[in-house]
Amino acid sequence: MNSRNQSYMIYLLLFIAIVAMVYFNVKQQPNAQGPLTISQVAQQIQDGKITRIVVKDDNSLLVISSGGSSPIEQTARKEPETTLVSQLVAFGVTPEQLANVTIEVTPPSSWAGILNLAYIILPVIMIGGLFWFIFRQAQGSNNAAMAFGKSKARMFSGEHPTVTFEDVAGIDESKEELKEVVEFLKEPQKFIQLGARIPKGVLLVGPPGTGKTLLAKAVSGEAGVPFFSISGSEFVEMFVGVGASRVRDLFEQAKRHSPCIVFVDEIDAVGRQRGAGLGGSHDEREQTLNQMLVEMDGFDTDTNVIVVAATNRPDILDPALLRPGRFDRRITLDRPDMRGREAILKVHARGKPFEPSVDLGSIARGTPGFVGADLENLINEGAILAARRNLKAIGQPELEEAIERVIMGPERKSRLISEEEKRIIAYHEAGHAVVINAIPEADPVQKITIVGRGQAGGLTWNRPTDDRTLTSRKKMLAQLALFLGGRAAEQLVFDDITSGASNDLENVTKIARTMVTRFGMSTELGSMTYGQKEELIFLGREISEQRDYSEAVAEQIDREVRKLVDDSYKQALAILKKYRKELDAVANKLLEVETLTREEFEKIFPPPFPKKSGTPQPA
Ligand code: ADP
Ligand code: MG
Ligand code: ZN
Repeated sequence: MNSRNQSYMIYLLLFIAIVAMVYFNVKQQPNAQGPLTISQVAQQIQDGKITRIVVKDDNSLLVISSGGSSPIEQTARKEPETTLVSQLVAFGVTPEQLANVTIEVTPPSSWAGILNLAYIILPVIMIGGLFWFIFRQAQGSNNAAMAFGKSKARMFSGEHPTVTFEDVAGIDESKEELKEVVEFLKEPQKFIQLGARIPKGVLLVGPPGTGKTLLAKAVSGEAGVPFFSISGSEFVEMFVGVGASRVRDLFEQAKRHSPCIVFVDEIDAVGRQRGAGLGGSHDEREQTLNQMLVEMDGFDTDTNVIVVAATNRPDILDPALLRPGRFDRRITLDRPDMRGREAILKVHARGKPFEPSVDLGSIARGTPGFVGADLENLINEGAILAARRNLKAIGQPELEEAIERVIMGPERKSRLISEEEKRIIAYHEAGHAVVINAIPEADPVQKITIVGRGQAGGLTWNRPTDDRTLTSRKKMLAQLALFLGGRAAEQLVFDDITSGASNDLENVTKIARTMVTRFGMSTELGSMTYGQKEELIFLGREISEQRDYSEAVAEQIDREVRKLVDDSYKQALAILKKYRKELDAVANKLLEVETLTREEFEKIFPPPFPKKSGTPQPA
């Protein structure tokens, strides 16, 4: 038998198995009326309708009632534990009523036995067939003649993208970080000669539509190397073992075409933390993930394949993926700010006719929260509108209307932030920044943005001045105040508070609790630690805290924590009142340009105390 016939055999086997399954399932329910429940049977006996019930050995019932000329047959099921009679009695059927019904119990027929046997044997044959199939699959990489193997090989013919960095806008920092990868792919020898360790894996992290796929393609286009891509969700397939062999094939192809890029989209689909799934088997995923790790670990210095992966859920990735020598480069793609949006609009406006009066800057201002994909969509909608209006060029009204269409449209990747919301976020972030600047112990502000990151409306970074491992009490108090600065600003300016501060409050609670229970930094409780922490060292996660103190002490701890937080909030509020003019100025500037660097911020609010600089810390 040649290999071609073998693969036909697989299809034939599966076909027969499926037909058999369907057939037996249909056989099970011969009556289209559907089975009766025991209570319905009981009711019909009480109504005197039923003349005979046949109890079969698999607990199914054939219920025969005297209906007019010919008897009616219906099916039902009894519970397996007890007899039919006791179940009917439980539903209130009296012995007199039962006497009118003939109850027959059929002995197991030989035919039923054969059917049962078929039920057992068929799955065995199917599973056996599957195993055989998988076994063949595993060998498939050596046996290119296999039908499945062939189609896979075709799938991974690397494409040569034509997009370059020119086509990617608004994410300049991410682009900058990838330039090195491009250089390596262009001239690997230059790096290898110097013994430089080349990144094997780059992880692109960002919300949907921010250009992760585009950027990966641009790297390959820029370097002029082939681009092999696969999506994590494709691996979640029905046959166990296929995912792993697909990965093997993919990497084999890639190595043959090196230098090149392997792009794994939606890596979270396979790279989820192992053992974190909800029920079911995740063997398939796990095997796929393991295979990917094995392949990456097996890269030699001259393999010259760089794996680029994309995800919007870095938080759920298996830590094994992020270990050194794997995806140890992480590049974040943020939602674009106003300047970024304008640059992206310009990219997509290229080669399209526009009225001279069109102002893309104003469109960018009107689309806070839009990502690259939305902006591309916007330009496209504008062009469609212009065409429908029989215009020669796209005008401002069409673009304005296109904003609406994108917001309403099904393809939208993100939501537009309202003016009111934007104002609150601006004051919230300005509040953080102003408090940071006004406290000598706080690390300087590095960057402020009101462009949304995940759940948070905006973000303010400040950097420690050096790599300290010891933290002082003053420093921790400063942290409490700066985290609370956002909410305090909302309170001060709008006389109301929003849910946007929940992340801040979580941080504040954690810091304050640690100060009291771990670092002995409260005056009332003194220099003692409370509670023993058990940590899973390997995972680096806390699993539980054992209490070794009384209820009274617990209350005291809560009181101390609350006092620390309350005092810090008051401090933040006082600072913001004192620097209200600066707060307004920073917020207004943020509303205008959305992102401020340290220099831009300090121009508006020169630090009252000298500040140095060092690693970013989001607030
Ligand atoms: P992701 O993979 O992050 O979901 P994509 O790369 O698929 O996003 O982006 C979809 C489309 O949106 C791209 O093909 C491109 O046309 C447009 N786009 C997204 N981000 C940008 C950007 N930064 N610059 C230019 N166009 C972009
Ligand atoms: Mg994508
Ligand atoms: Zn905040």
